Amino acid sequence: MTKILIVGAGLSGTVVARQLAEAKHKVTVIDKRPHIGGNCFDFMNEIGILVHKYGPHLFHTSNKNVVEWLSRFTEWIEYKHKVKAMLSNGKLVSFPVNLDTLKEVDESKIIDTFFRPYTKKMWNMELEDLDPSIIQRVPVRKDHNDLYFPDDSYQLMPKYGYTELFKSIFNHRNIYLSLGTPWTEEMISDYDLIFTSMPIDEFCGYSKGRLPYRSIKFHTYTVPVPNLFPVTTINFTHNGPYTRVTEWKNIYKNMKNDKAKYATTITIEEPCSDSENNFEKFYPVKDLSGINNKRYQEYIHTLPKKVIPIGRCGLYKYLDMDEAIERALNISQKILSKIN
Ligand code: UDP
Repeated sequence: MTKILIVGAGLSGTVVARQLAEAKHKVTVIDKRPHIGGNCFDFMNEIGILVHKYGPHLFHTSNKNVVEWLSRFTEWIEYKHKVKAMLSNGKLVSFPVNLDTLKEVDESKIIDTFFRPYTKKMWNMELEDLDPSIIQRVPVRKDHNDLYFPDDSYQLMPKYGYTELFKSIFNHRNIYLSLGTPWTEEMISDYDLIFTSMPIDEFCGYSKGRLPYRSIKFHTYTVPVPNLFPVTTINFTHNGPYTRVTEWKNIYKNMKNDKAKYATTITIEEPCSDSENNFEKFYPVKDLSGINNKRYQEYIHTLPKKVIPIGRCGLYKYLDMDEAIERALNISQKILSKIN
């Protein structure tokens, strides 16, 4: 029997655990945090509003396989994410930039208004030093479409939230879950196969130096106002230190909730380096020079064969949720074809 450990109970670890468990392997999943779900973790707050503890996670994809796989574990609500950008005069305009935005801001000022200041506070880097794929996530549109993910066929949220979805995926007799359990190096000899979504530098004891990650400090407030914003997220174009605010009740709009009738909960995001936030690592930094990726590759070369990196931090890649799931399904299949 192959002894399998999965380090990290986030999206990738959960998907791999389920796939292996269904193929009749017993798997142990550990996570240093006291909860499942990784950065997708959500919880009902004191007035019954579902809050994403680690910032907004909006599920969007055109990948039918991924949707079908998840649909085994959750019902959905339709939710199409909208964002507006707040200009310096307080005016809210469509974002990503579309033809309506251009009525308020001249085309020549797009980069300096919407991208340069936001990117600086988000990454603490100049726009020119960052890989262009980062800002290409929010391309300028030549129409009036004001959706944040205009091209994705599926834009859904798990009906009862992400944590419930994860619970359901973990609910298998071949999965043994141990929360509040950090990875330690001695564990390596206890297992034949280890999938790790831990930041790879941390997993390797920083033997080749630290990889940079961006982190976010979340400032959450409940205020006695029924509703604050016309859309779920407002991006700030000012010079900082905050990037955006999310009003949670706008996602699950139709959820009946008397307590939240006269109040709303918002979370404001303040990016920082991981060292300024308890070494919580959220975003790998994709620099144009490729130095970070080079260091990542050095780590990969030192990994024992039985260790398989997964997820955003394990792969040091800015993966969206659907990509993380797709990769987790693929790696599970690949490994199963070898060990079954
Ligand atoms: N971005 C920006 N202005 C914005 C929104 C995004 O400059 O108002 C840039 C910024 O560099 C950001 C990247 O585009 O990190 C990707 O944005 P996205 O909203 O996809 O970030 P996420 O939701 O993953 O944090």
